[in-house]
Amino acid sequence: MILVTGGAGFIGANFVLDWLANSDEPVLNLDKLTYAGNRNNLASVDGDARHVFVQGDIGDTALVERLLAEHKPRAVVNFAAESHVDRSIHGPEDFIQTNVVGTFRLLQAVRQYWQALCAIEKEAFRFLHVSTDEVYGTLAPDAPAFTETHTTEPNSPYSASKAASDHLVRAWHHTFGLPVLTTNCSNNYGPYHFPEKLIPLMIVNALAGKSLPVYGDGMQVRDWLYVADHCSAIRRVLEAGKPGETYNVGGWNEMPNIDIVHTVCRLLDELRPRADGKPYAEQISYVQDRPGHDRRYAIDARKIERELGWKPAETFESGIRKTVQWYLEHAGWVADVQTGAYRDWVQTQYAAD
Ligand code: NAD
Repeated sequence: MILVTGGAGFIGANFVLDWLANSDEPVLNLDKLTYAGNRNNLASVDGDARHVFVQGDIGDTALVERLLAEHKPRAVVNFAAESHVDRSIHGPEDFIQTNVVGTFRLLQAVRQYWQALCAIEKEAFRFLHVSTDEVYGTLAPDAPAFTETHTTEPNSPYSASKAASDHLVRAWHHTFGLPVLTTNCSNNYGPYHFPEKLIPLMIVNALAGKSLPVYGDGMQVRDWLYVADHCSAIRRVLEAGKPGETYNVGGWNEMPNIDIVHTVCRLLDELRPRADGKPYAEQISYVQDRPGHDRRYAIDARKIERELGWKPAETFESGIRKTVQWYLEHAGWVADVQTGAYRDWVQTQYAAD
């Protein structure tokens, strides 16, 4: 069995579904079910005995200790986090609690569990920490992409809290010998992505006839990776990564945000044309930039490609088409998540809509 934390969120749920589709090994899924965690993401494995879901906090040491003792996982994959940069600017406290204190407590509980394993189990055990390219800070337009040895220069409360968790994970390896692996991945997109993030927000707003808010000049550059490719990278690192190592994961697909928005509009024009026949791009509106907005992230993924033989299966064009199609076919999922906490947040962000 493996323990997955945050497995009801966007990437975690994709990972759990992908894992259960590709392996007989059961998954223990520990998720607090914050606004970002959604049991509906896992509806297709409801009733599958290989999936054990527990609602709880990675910072709840007694709970984590009990789960480890009861289920004896051979690995932990830590997705649990507060993940939205805008929210970290409005309210950083939860980011420190979960991403820093929560990761620390999880590491402590896992360390104790790991130390008590027999020599063979101890050797085979892995703690894989899922992190982001945002920990590296921002890049000049002509600077080379981030490698694993790039300095960490986080600029938002979110990225600072993730960088702190990466450092804790590193220290638990160097100080205590815990066999950890860290992945730093670029921006993901795909099914089950909560519509506060750029791509699903644009799809959902476009279809609702609302404005498509683009920060500043829209020229912030990000690398984009289809979520299934991130999941395959995590599986590969878990299987063959070297304890103590960090692996950058990316799609070699740098694009300015405004190009992403135009791509989404173009696909919607083709797949679900507006009733008035006009292009969705008409709905784009530029809004005040986010404070401290990093201009460019780019991931150099040569290490994972060279050492572990991983490569993304999707191009941006194929992945974004699948994503737009998924949202068109899952209007019920979208309607379910656009309630309560989501509605309140969107209203504070985009009051004009
Ligand atoms: P998400 O916000 O969609 O999901 C996070 C999940 O963690 C939710 O299900 C939430 O309920 C759960 N959670 C939050 N606090 C918890 C706690 N204290 N205990 C247990 N569960 C808790 O995030 P995501 O986009 O799926 O990201 C998952 C991980 O991948 C994060 O660590 C994030 O930093 C990292 N990451 C994300 C991206 C991206 O583009 N989304 C890219 C690189 C890395």
